[in-house]
Amino acid sequence: MYWNKDIECMPREKLQALQLKRLADSFQRALSSPFYKEHFASGKIKSISSLDDLEKLPFTTKDDLRRAFPHGLVCVPIEETVRLHSSSGTTGNPTVVYHTKNDLDIWADLMARSLYMAGARKEDVFQNMMGYGLFTGGLGLHYGAEKLGMLTIPIGPGNTHRQIWFLQQFHTTIAHILPSYALRLAAALRDANLESGKDTRLKMVIVGAEPHTEGVRRKIEELLGVKAFNCYGLSEMCGPGVAFECEHQNGLHLWEDHFFMEIVDPETGKRLPDGEEGELVLTTLIREAMPVFRYRTRDITSIIPEPCLCGRTHRRISRIKGRDDDMLIINGVNVFPMQIEKVLMSISGVGTNYIIEVKKQNYMDKLTVKVEIHEELFTGTLEGLEKLELDIERQLKDEILFTPVVKLVEPNAIPVVQGKVKRVIDLRQTD
Ligand SMILES: [Zn+2]
Repeated sequence: MYWNKDIECMPREKLQALQLKRLADSFQRALSSPFYKEHFASGKIKSISSLDDLEKLPFTTKDDLRRAFPHGLVCVPIEETVRLHSSSGTTGNPTVVYHTKNDLDIWADLMARSLYMAGARKEDVFQNMMGYGLFTGGLGLHYGAEKLGMLTIPIGPGNTHRQIWFLQQFHTTIAHILPSYALRLAAALRDANLESGKDTRLKMVIVGAEPHTEGVRRKIEELLGVKAFNCYGLSEMCGPGVAFECEHQNGLHLWEDHFFMEIVDPETGKRLPDGEEGELVLTTLIREAMPVFRYRTRDITSIIPEPCLCGRTHRRISRIKGRDDDMLIINGVNVFPMQIEKVLMSISGVGTNYIIEVKKQNYMDKLTVKVEIHEELFTGTLEGLEKLELDIERQLKDEILFTPVVKLVEPNAIPVVQGKVKRVIDLRQTD
């Protein structure tokens, strides 16, 4: 049941003592990077002697990482690093994260631990449908799956026909997949008259990289006949493997022997108590090449204080509600796209593809939700469709506190994109 029981079930006091020792060492190591030498110079402390000392240190942001381009945060000689990953830089410098050989070994072990926790075993066949390359999703899971001992297929994303062929030929049991792509794969299997579970042996999917609701997870499980597990990570920490669900699928265990977590108020930066929702702030505890302190992830979540039934002592975070940057402000009201998805997925007859459009009309923000519905509904009466539209509008209003415009469209009316799906089109800046 456990990859490493001593660590996963370590008593809290012992775990905290381990965190403190690692944090203190990491602090000293970080001082040999040009960035942290300067960043910490203004701080009130010269060493860390308690976990509370961390709060006295300034945050690190994505902009800090950009400013430190290309290797201002690296605290080992560059020749000791063996790999870098980089974010797509749409504005300014990209962020770059470096790893030593040891960092990569530790990351693979964390991934293996996470996959094992979800139920993966060495007899499984793992088809990795995530992008390889600078994005950490592909290589991160890849090395974890190999470390666990699974037969690993580095197929990468896209080409659904080929994915299905591989699923069948190699008896794949576990796939790593974007949630939006899992829904498309399910539709493609259905179109090919193939039954998941009968014509394929897929039993589990690992979903990550796109925020999605519980409703989408349940839909993936139902359509593919699998268990779907959430995986959380970010390249600034290592990549996937920071937190992962156990068999109870009730929050994600965040590996506290590797990361120190805080939840802060996104406005004031003040630390919030367990159970309260806020921004996740993470500190690496044993990274060699590039320790990062108090990183503002922009991800909104909360710590689940209750212990988990599985016996692991590493605390859980709740499903990521969305990125702070994803939040839309519509005529002064805060709306997360995930709130809209949650409502849509709870309505029967509603398909899996939707898009949210925001524009200005008479100086007011107008939010329109276009959503695909099942084919059979289009053969019904016009009144029936109008009634469904109104019904969805009413349910959305209960969630987001104002009434959006809902437009029902036929299946496949919304164009499918390769890679990460974009659910929001905000046209306000260009009006
Ligand atoms: Zn658990």
